[in-house]
Amino acid sequence: MNPKTLFYIIIAIIIIDFIIDKILDTLNAKHFDDPIPQELSDVYNKDEYEKSQRYKKERYRFGIITSTFSVLLTLGFIIFDGFAWVDDIARNFTDNAILVALIFFGIIMIGSDILTTPFSWYSTFVIEEKYGFNKTTKKTFFLDKIKGWFMMIILGGGILALIVWFYQFAGNDFWWYAWILVAVFSIFINMFYAKLIVPLFNKQSPLEEGSLRTKIETYAKSVGFTLDNIFIIDGSKRSTKANAYFSGFGKEKRITLFDTLVKDLEEEEIVAVLAHEVGHYKKNHIIVNLLASILTTGFTLWLLSLFVGSPALSQALGVEEPSFHIGLIAFGILYSPISEITGLLMNYLSRKFEYQADNYAKNTYGAAPLISSLKKLTKNSLSNLTPHKAYVFMHYSHPTLLQRFRNLKRGL
Ligand SMILES: [Zn+2]
Repeated sequence: MNPKTLFYIIIAIIIIDFIIDKILDTLNAKHFDDPIPQELSDVYNKDEYEKSQRYKKERYRFGIITSTFSVLLTLGFIIFDGFAWVDDIARNFTDNAILVALIFFGIIMIGSDILTTPFSWYSTFVIEEKYGFNKTTKKTFFLDKIKGWFMMIILGGGILALIVWFYQFAGNDFWWYAWILVAVFSIFINMFYAKLIVPLFNKQSPLEEGSLRTKIETYAKSVGFTLDNIFIIDGSKRSTKANAYFSGFGKEKRITLFDTLVKDLEEEEIVAVLAHEVGHYKKNHIIVNLLASILTTGFTLWLLSLFVGSPALSQALGVEEPSFHIGLIAFGILYSPISEITGLLMNYLSRKFEYQADNYAKNTYGAAPLISSLKKLTKNSLSNLTPHKAYVFMHYSHPTLLQRFRNLKRGL
């Protein structure tokens, strides 16, 4: 294909993607003031509800500003041959294709991170602060940045270097090697996430003996689930928002509860949240999600292998000498409509799984404590009770509170 045509397609994809996103945001915002569904009338009192209204409107406006900034930055960068410029800088250092790719992505990633830091700063220290969510200190904020960069350089850099190397010796067959590498890496990270990555950012400690632990163990026993690893994580170091998640499998499986969750919920409610997490495990959601993401990666890499060698991809971004890393950038943008679709399917699947996990908790423990925990968590994070259907369909990985409430009430 003609590089000029490809250039216009790339620009069109970025603009269309942005417009669709803004239409969805606007639709969603139009329903911010809808009446609260009667079943959820006890979530907020009047003051809290008004606070939640202000919060979501402020988040909405902020989202428009950040996304507009980032789309203009991307467009400007492409139109004014920014990638060619960074490619030149990288080539001034070395001729080695692997090092050029590493320097190139290093500059792009760190540059864009620095440019967007004022926005994340504002989000944390102005918006979240104003609504009482923020617990992050400035020191933690910067340490998180540095640790994030460090991880990106070691892990991202390592994987990128290997993939470029595969491309050098295997040509278009590189995707097989890359696929195996990424698959092994994701299984490894999934398995050891809690032991290797989390300690860089948080403190975790085993849940102490006491009535909560006893209740959890009694429940786990009743459903035949061996659960030796229950950890409390210091989520309160950054935010008052609460969470719980499952990670690993086999002997490495563990449930992690945020200290904020333990503080906000009654013991029965915590067991209900945990029962939901056990449901994910028992219904094999962890494995299915991992397999789905490995298959998507294989598909993406295969598609990449068909196009990455084409000089038109690099030329579309104003770079005369074709290279793997420039091809990768152009492909990444051209692929984004497909990744929107796979993302949509993954969200759809995830919402199905949430219902299954809720039903599991309902059947093995009880609907009432799960309902009250979901309502409390919604209230404490000032979540939107009236999202628009299309927005939910595109963006939500969980059903809405109302949908989950109705599902849990069904048949009772
Ligand atoms: Zn879940």
